Amino acid sequence: MTTILTFFLLLSSSAMAAYLAWKSRSGKRISGAHEAYRLATEMGDEGFYVARPVKSGTDEIIDWTYIDCNEQGAAFLGLQKHDLIGKNFSSFYPAISLKNVLEICACAAREGYYEDEYEEISGSPLKVRWVRRQFAASKEGLAISLKNISGIKEYALEMSRLVNEDAVTALPNRKWLAEFLSKALQDKTNKMAVLFIDLDDFKNINDALGHAIGDLLLRSAAMRLKSVIGMNDRVVRLGGDEFVVILTKLANHGEARRMAELVNEILRFPLELVKGKKSITTSIGISLFPSDGTDMDMLLKSAEIAMYSAKKNGKAHYRFYTQTLYESLKSRLNLEQDLSDAIDKDQFVLFYEPRMHVATGKLCGMEALVRWIHPERGLVQPLEFIPLAESTGLIVKLGELIIDKAFKQVVLWKNSGLPVLPISINISAYQFNMGNISRTFFEAFDKYKISPELIEIELTESAMLGDQTSIIKELSNIRSLGVKLLIDDFGTGYSSLSQLQRFKMDTLKVDRAFLSELDRTSEGEVFVKAIISMAHALGMNVVAEGVETKAQLEILRSLSCDEVQGYYLARPMQADAMAQFLAHSDSPMDAIPGIVSHI
Ligand code: C2E
Ligand code: MG
Ligand code: MG
Repeated sequence: MTTILTFFLLLSSSAMAAYLAWKSRSGKRISGAHEAYRLATEMGDEGFYVARPVKSGTDEIIDWTYIDCNEQGAAFLGLQKHDLIGKNFSSFYPAISLKNVLEICACAAREGYYEDEYEEISGSPLKVRWVRRQFAASKEGLAISLKNISGIKEYALEMSRLVNEDAVTALPNRKWLAEFLSKALQDKTNKMAVLFIDLDDFKNINDALGHAIGDLLLRSAAMRLKSVIGMNDRVVRLGGDEFVVILTKLANHGEARRMAELVNEILRFPLELVKGKKSITTSIGISLFPSDGTDMDMLLKSAEIAMYSAKKNGKAHYRFYTQTLYESLKSRLNLEQDLSDAIDKDQFVLFYEPRMHVATGKLCGMEALVRWIHPERGLVQPLEFIPLAESTGLIVKLGELIIDKAFKQVVLWKNSGLPVLPISINISAYQFNMGNISRTFFEAFDKYKISPELIEIELTESAMLGDQTSIIKELSNIRSLGVKLLIDDFGTGYSSLSQLQRFKMDTLKVDRAFLSELDRTSEGEVFVKAIISMAHALGMNVVAEGVETKAQLEILRSLSCDEVQGYYLARPMQADAMAQFLAHSDSPMDAIPGIVSHI
């Protein structure tokens, strides 16, 4: 007896079960083992039982009787050992679970061994939620052991919840979505819609009100989204301000459209935040299963493309994915890649457009205008790539390249003995706000050692809409380098002369849109006259852009416009052509032999 006890004490419960199974399979059933095991486990946390079958008149097993157990085994049923022994399973298990237990016992008796993990269902007599059950056939009937694994199971469930749940909103996350869709997408007859929802301007709210308020807003938005979806639908937070609603069992597109409208409407209704209320709009892209994609990546990508298109077209609305959206995004991305490569390979060249002093008719400066020498497309005009360079941020790098080229050109002309005149360089709004312009120019002056009067900067009014204090500081940094500031395209933006005075701009360039009206309507002349006289009153120099006719030039002369540029004088040209103008810059432009004859 002692040897058997020691032997069983050394065995773990699963080793014990395996051993019992092996014994059973080899046909040598254990006798008295239950006694040893009960003793061995009396102090442990496993329940142990020995059960004998109860048979009907036809020798069919209809129930089982507990003939032995340890204290823990009885405790699992909320009893003392002596209360359990001698009782049948049927006196504890309700009909539904009894059927299941009897089937398992029959299987164990037949096969010799059975093991599973079991979650207590309501009505089960067990006082624990999760157990590992092991049944082994023995001489008397069955040796059963139960181990409480509720702690491990709950931990595993909690871990899986954490892995599948977004921490801020408690919504399911991308990982959960991947699992959900991998199952849901197997049924191609189940039409579905993916709504890719992006909160408009969330970044601004987050930056202005702080992350805690941002999180609150995300939680409120999540609750609202949950409140509008149907029983078969799901809402997921992908991350940031991006949510996804999955509509399953879709009858038609209209349902997706209605949901998108509803989402926009419920989020527009002010959300309660700590410091007041905030209403938000959303941009939504919709893709449909199976037509727009058959796996999660494709469906999400298609919906995201549609969302970006909605955002680009003024936000606060939804858009269904179409192949055309994909094509245009692809060509935009290709162009973006091309542009980025072009910057790395330096496929750019500067053209120069002469500026003429009206009173003397002499060349007084020039504007540097960039061109892209595309290996396949040839010469590409700036309006085809500057906006893209701006929206992608590539303008900062491209801008530095342009600045470097202009400075280098001054040095080249100087070295070849030409009298160089000021070159104005265009700096676009994004470039001005993102790049450290004064520093870039400082470094260029340091590198090329040229006189500051030879460089000017053209800025548009839109560059000066940001934080006024930092703009004034940056402009004064530029001015302290000795560089003049020109306001470009004046008249197309806010046209605030007082702002120009505050920013201490040196020169005003009247946009060419005004020039086309100049020699056609009397209002055209009135406008230009007003701009010139006000700019003069504020001490600014005036340049008229886009002069195309002699008549325009004469009117501008009569209005005391200081300088002009435009196709009437000359079109933008390459550096070597410009060198000819520079070589004769002490004569009026119309007297330069063989160059300009029509002024
Ligand atoms: P902008 O700075 O206003 O430059 C003047 C534009 O008007 C130039 O177009 C010039 O070729 C055109 N132009 C000049 N005279 C006439 C005329 O008499 N009639 C007509 N119809 N057009 C005239 P371009 O070179 O195509 O440049 C367009 C815009 O692209 C520029 O407008 C500027 O905003 C931007 N840009 C050009 N080069 C650069 C650059 O190096 N950096 C940045 N950031 N922007 C640039
Ligand atoms: Mg310009
Ligand atoms: Mg301009």
